[in-house]
Amino acid sequence: MTLALDGGPPVRIRPLPYARQSTNEEDLQAVVAALQSDWLTTGPRVDEFERELARALGNNHAVAVCNGTAALHCAAYAMGIGSGDEVLVPSMTFAASANCVAFLGGRPVFVDVDPDTLLIDPEKALQAVTPRTQAILAVDYAGQPCDYDRLSEIAGEHSLGLIADACHAPGATYRGRPVGSLADVSTFSFHPVKHFTSGEGGAVLTADEEKARRMKLFRNHGILTDHRKREQTGTWFYEMVDLGYNYRLTDLQCALGMSQLRRLPGWVHRRRQLADHYRSLLANLPAVRPLAAAVDRTHSYHLFPVRLDLACLRVDRGQVFAALRAEGIGVNVHYIPVHLHPYYRERFGTGPGLCPVAEQAYQELLSLPMFPLMSEDDADDVVTALDKVIRAYAR
Ligand SMILES: *Cc1c(COP(=O)(O)O)cnc(C)c1O
Repeated sequence: MTLALDGGPPVRIRPLPYARQSTNEEDLQAVVAALQSDWLTTGPRVDEFERELARALGNNHAVAVCNGTAALHCAAYAMGIGSGDEVLVPSMTFAASANCVAFLGGRPVFVDVDPDTLLIDPEKALQAVTPRTQAILAVDYAGQPCDYDRLSEIAGEHSLGLIADACHAPGATYRGRPVGSLADVSTFSFHPVKHFTSGEGGAVLTADEEKARRMKLFRNHGILTDHRKREQTGTWFYEMVDLGYNYRLTDLQCALGMSQLRRLPGWVHRRRQLADHYRSLLANLPAVRPLAAAVDRTHSYHLFPVRLDLACLRVDRGQVFAALRAEGIGVNVHYIPVHLHPYYRERFGTGPGLCPVAEQAYQELLSLPMFPLMSEDDADDVVTALDKVIRAYAR
């Protein structure tokens, strides 16, 4: 069959995106109610959203902030990361995971990943520990929790903090415990591409009341009194006690986030069904290999990455990507290893060869469309297109 790239008919006339949010009438009403209330920015919905996040994601305290990157900045700050401190970060992640260390003057030390799961390899993290290491920052890549028992053990033995970038994994569990409760601080993003959305938004979860208190200061200029309390007590007084930022999440966004959060369990269930469907279809396509899912975890499938067996193909991943896009399949690539970005090469002297497993994976990765509103028929189209493209380019 002629590929759409070469002028043939595409598998899909209406392109399938790789991710898409879903909003409903309840979301709309929640936002309208907030808009008609006395509070547009920091009002009662912030505390309410934080309570609901803490309950839903399984920890005592949640601090809501304006995006996932701000959540990472808050988390690294709460862990005391400062000038010259080293933090172990997997290379297979979004740049923000490492950037939060650099924001505070620290040095991200890139650790390679496990070839089967692309999660941080705890033994490689252990090998990278130096007297300057302050923390491990684990990333639950694609929605699968890292090996937190082993990471906690290493952190305990070397007095390191443990930060979870759980932006991919709300609703996932590790040995029966929810993501959100597995590290000293755990960060989430509510960007529309993630599991549930507040437009932009993020949060940090922690069991430590003092860390939560400090992060609440950090998100509000380091100022002690919030606007609402000041108004209630009728005074102008406030004190800036630390250098902070304006990382606040608005009441409007919290209204949307709270409404969406109620649908998280159903959405995770749906993502897992779609993943099962993909896995059964892909069993017939040996050139396309899904990542391994560990049996002691429930994966929440933010992404469904696959690796191409390039030995079976005459072309590289870029050509397969272009051919699939032409077929109307919204594939994507997650991620360019962070240590290969020019900023890290120039500022921290990183480069090719530092994390060979991540670098090899990057050559082969494709993220297939994955979002709760997708149907089984949509997934069938994805695999039909993959089959078509791989046949056309078979060696
Ligand atoms: C999305 C994401 C972030 C950043 O979240 P924003 O809300 O876009 O700032 C950080 N880390 C990972 C792994 C992410 O996927």
